[in-house]
Amino acid sequence: MSFFDTHAHIYDRKYESAGITAEDILQSCAESGVNRILIPGYSMESSKAAVRDAAQYNGKSGVELFASVGIHPHEAKTYNSEVESYLRDSIEHREELRILAIGEIGLDYYYDLSERSVQREVFEKQLLMAYEYDIPFILHERDATGDCLDILRRFYKEGNLRKTPGVCHCCSCSVEASQELIKMGFFIGFDGPLTFKNNKKTPEVLKAAPLDRIVIETDSPYLTPEPNRGNINEPCHVPYVCAKVAEIKGITLEEAASITYDNGNRLYELS
Ligand SMILES: [Zn+2]
Repeated sequence: MSFFDTHAHIYDRKYESAGITAEDILQSCAESGVNRILIPGYSMESSKAAVRDAAQYNGKSGVELFASVGIHPHEAKTYNSEVESYLRDSIEHREELRILAIGEIGLDYYYDLSERSVQREVFEKQLLMAYEYDIPFILHERDATGDCLDILRRFYKEGNLRKTPGVCHCCSCSVEASQELIKMGFFIGFDGPLTFKNNKKTPEVLKAAPLDRIVIETDSPYLTPEPNRGNINEPCHVPYVCAKVAEIKGITLEEAASITYDNGNRLYELS
């Protein structure tokens, strides 16, 4: 069985503090059947770290690594012409740099770490960039579903969204909102919270989602799935998310692994 962790920040400093190296992470992945990982950026610095790690560790322990570059809503206030040139330059060289997507981008009104109007502006700039370069994006949305959908609907109507726009990562919106995203061509990303006992909403989103639109992720080092909750998260935990997908969808783990692996490949145009 092979698993694709479509979202893991393996460059995060938490690993260093925990005494875990990138080699350790990939070794554990190999033991768990996780052989593809996308490392997302959220700022210019972390995007550079994602690209660096994807180059430096790709193939170690048989794990293929890919990266994404983008400015998260928390970091929207840092967006300037230097950042934009960095993003454009990276995306233009995406093949050599193993970049598969723009992201994380979106809106986060829960933390409000950047002003909302700035978040919207930076989100729209990167949405246009994704369309211009014909590359999928990784959507981060928290407590901002209304504004996020408004923007995406407008882009959709104006023909500025790709047929497969990207993935709603760590989807926390309602069933209705997730269904609208699916109609626009999105994949839906599930991770640790799907396994949390007090989480009633995410299993409903999963139940309503067609099997061919589901991808699995860990968002490591955060959101550790049950039964490891409380420990630092690693991509080798993605099979727990997959097992929960299998349980809720009433399919075998093998089927869920194979379907979500293929979905990850379709989302990111990998063979
Ligand atoms: Zn993330």
